[in-house]
Amino acid sequence: MATEEFDIIVIGLGPGGERVADECATAGLRVLGIESRLVGGECPYYGCVPTKMMVRAASSLAESRRVPRLAGTSTDHADWAPVAARIRDEATDNWDDTVAVKRLTDAGGHFVRGHGRIAGPGLVAVGEQEFRATRAIVVGTGTAPVVPPIDGLAGTPFWTNREAVEAMAAPASLIVLGGGAIGLEMAQVFSRFGTRVTILEAGTRLLAVEEPEAGELLAVVLGREGLDVRTGVKATSVSYDGSFTVTLDGGDTVTAEKLLVAVGRKTDLDGLGVATVGIDATARFLATDGNLRVQDGLYAVGDITGKGLFTHVAVYQGGIAVADILGHEHAPADYAALPRVTFTDPEIGATGITAQQAADRGMTVRTGSAQTASSARGWIHKEGNDGFIKLVVDASSGVLVGATSAGPWGGEVLGALSVAVHARLELEQLRRMIYAYPTFHRGIEDAIKAVGA
Ligand SMILES: Cc1cc2nc3c(=O)[nH]c(=O)nc-3n(C[C@H](O)[C@H](O)[C@H](O)COP(=O)(O)OP(=O)(O)OC[C@H]3O[C@@H](n4cnc5c(N)ncnc54)[C@H](O)[C@@H]3O)c2cc1C
Repeated sequence: MATEEFDIIVIGLGPGGERVADECATAGLRVLGIESRLVGGECPYYGCVPTKMMVRAASSLAESRRVPRLAGTSTDHADWAPVAARIRDEATDNWDDTVAVKRLTDAGGHFVRGHGRIAGPGLVAVGEQEFRATRAIVVGTGTAPVVPPIDGLAGTPFWTNREAVEAMAAPASLIVLGGGAIGLEMAQVFSRFGTRVTILEAGTRLLAVEEPEAGELLAVVLGREGLDVRTGVKATSVSYDGSFTVTLDGGDTVTAEKLLVAVGRKTDLDGLGVATVGIDATARFLATDGNLRVQDGLYAVGDITGKGLFTHVAVYQGGIAVADILGHEHAPADYAALPRVTFTDPEIGATGITAQQAADRGMTVRTGSAQTASSARGWIHKEGNDGFIKLVVDASSGVLVGATSAGPWGGEVLGALSVAVHARLELEQLRRMIYAYPTFHRGIEDAIKAVGA
């Protein structure tokens, strides 16, 4: 069997891999892109895009329900049909990647559908076919939903994010296993469409990776909206007889029509054949340097690097990998101001490190917080004004190293904070700035005052 040669072979065409493949092909390199599912990856078909369409729809319902305390009367009749149609017609082309495949082949790239596996230095196998990369293999295989080993769960028709996005109707009731970003966004969306939602989180708080105030705020807001939020509870078994029953460690049971499992994401280094190039296949992520190189002739981009499971990270890394492959001047990857947004209402935006992460690094910090409702804009906004801004400042240098902006458009307010962390600005520079009145971002000034001298 002949081994076909390419300059670059990209395994996994999510946002990171797709960028590398498209740009290397456009630059004139011989590129092979390999994708086992859909070119574009999790983000456009099962992640960011369809879930944000769901969030947008649910927010419009929430706003309509705020009318009585602000502008008269309103009625709404929630209907999932437009959401399902929009996800099919506008976001996913009914989960058809023809357009994305054509983008790659129009750029001059070659495409193979199948499971790519590294078969040795520079070698990739897809089934019986073998390919050689003369310059580099780029891995962008992303992550898949974790299915925890809970007694009885396997074999039941539970949802992951993928089935939830494909839903044709909002269920009557839903148990959400996992109080992270994905679970919380979905929980609030379905609740606003009339689903009775129970969130089960084993940890002591929601959104565990962010500042504690963020999870505490969401627990209050979601509870107020009628969701049953339970933290510190472990699911010990699951059964299904037309509806799901989850048994908790204390013996309590929760029953619902659907069960969404959103407890994390996993990689598959073993299935990728990394052992054939001397890499530990039991590791969770591929370790990369500032140029996204794993080793000579092997790059990794996106979720598989473990630097932040976000599309903007995958695309950012893809750009650096392309520059490095093409020999273009570029700055090494810098994650100091990594932004992330949980698209609940209130939105939770965060950048840089939390106070706890700073302490874990041996850093002494000063923090300051301000409540959105106490700001001029928050007070004017009234309904739906829950939120806060929290700043984390390195006490020794005075530099802002982390920030959280929770509230209406918290992800947008985050922009200013992310610029500051990225530029390693001292708090004093931010203190001297003029903040437009009455904006939500003016809350930054209130939080600065709370940090003190
Ligand atoms: C519900 C949900 C909501 C999200 N919302 C956001 C958001 O709002 N903002 C944000 O920034 N991020 C969000 N994310 C995260 C975002 O989707 C991911 O971080 C992003 O898609 C990662 O890109 P990637 O390049 O690593 O690859 P992925 O998108 O994970 O794609 C990897 C591709 O590789 C393919 N593949 C895997 N193994 C192989 C193999 N061996 N051979 C061939 N192909 C293979 C897979 O089929 C897949 O298509 C969300 C994720 C989920 C699940």
